[in-house]
Amino acid sequence: MVLRIFDPKALEDRKILLRVDFNVPMEGDFVSDSTRIAAHIPTVRSLCEAGAKVALVSHFGRPKGTRSEEFSLRRVLSTVETVLQKKIVFVDDCVGDIVAATMDTLPRGAVALLENVRFHKEEQENDERFASHLAAPFDVFVMDAFSAAHRADASTNGVTKFLPSFAGLLLEREVSMLSRVSDFPERPFVILLGGAKVSDKIGVVEHLLEKATTICIGGGMAFTFLAAQGHRIGRSLLEEDKIPFAGEMMQRAKENGVGILLPVDVLLAKRFEDDTYRVSDVSAIGDDELGLDIGPETVRLFGDCVRAAKTVLWNGPMGVFEREAYSSGTRRIGDALKECTGLGGTTVVGGGDTASAAKMLGFAESVSHVSTGGGASLEFFEGKLLPGIAPLLL
Ligand code: AMP
Repeated sequence: MVLRIFDPKALEDRKILLRVDFNVPMEGDFVSDSTRIAAHIPTVRSLCEAGAKVALVSHFGRPKGTRSEEFSLRRVLSTVETVLQKKIVFVDDCVGDIVAATMDTLPRGAVALLENVRFHKEEQENDERFASHLAAPFDVFVMDAFSAAHRADASTNGVTKFLPSFAGLLLEREVSMLSRVSDFPERPFVILLGGAKVSDKIGVVEHLLEKATTICIGGGMAFTFLAAQGHRIGRSLLEEDKIPFAGEMMQRAKENGVGILLPVDVLLAKRFEDDTYRVSDVSAIGDDELGLDIGPETVRLFGDCVRAAKTVLWNGPMGVFEREAYSSGTRRIGDALKECTGLGGTTVVGGGDTASAAKMLGFAESVSHVSTGGGASLEFFEGKLLPGIAPLLL
């Protein structure tokens, strides 16, 4: 998949509409994690250094088509200024004369931040007239918001009908790293799946199963697979209606010579809230117990597999990593990923909860790539052509 990339030399004095994702988590009036903002630094810098005039457009929360203080991007302005190390002009709307007037007076190399694009309900309807209004004050559109690329909105897709459109540097890196894993993975190729839900990962498994050497399944979703093998899983997470899928997938893997590794031991508590647990073989789970992390034998088993891999894709934590008591499985598999990267492997962590775990447990810096997109990376690995990417293909 090759994307059209902008040529900085052609952008001097041009008015650029740059789609970013500043939908960052807040704690009161403060941005609690600015990773998403920082991810756009290379693109913004490159455009500014080229002498372009840049307007940043983003969504923020779910205001459902109405203006509100709570969802105003003004709340993130000072963080954006700090992260980008630049004074930024705030514009009270993302369409209309106010935007045109700002762009007419904005100096070369300067940046404006437009108000939340979701204050207009037409954004998520991908309304063509609205997209043309968004585009009107600009010469060029640059799409950098990989994490919003699975949505066919006016600011990710519709606007490309009205402006010459290019991929930003973040989007380009995401697509090249994720394609390297999904299209031409160097073998052994190990897929690590975890997290709460089997249903979220079905599409990924269906698309990538035949390409994998081994699929290691941990987290809450492993219990549906263990149940499909006939294990008693007590009160652990179970998606009963997905047991047939789990069985079929294990059969398909066998037919294709793909290894499936399930936990051999787990950490068991009596209640979800309990921090006291016992380590048990998966064949000895009590009816009143539930599994909240993978056990040490499983860590060894999955870890050996990861260390021997040339390509690793990881989506979904191995346990309830948000709680110290159940974070060690995810942390230690993170350590194995670090080692694999050190040995020259390509290691990619899907976005969402796995990206939060990588950051929280300290291995985000030691893997080849941590995706900024949760839903977008899942859909990418399902083999879908995302609506925010399709118009940018060469
Ligand atoms: P997902 O969004 O499907 O990747 O799920 C991520 C969530 O799965 C995290 O919040 C984890 O706490 C949770 N999780 C991981 N393992 C388990 C488990 N064994 N039981 C319950 N929840 C789990």
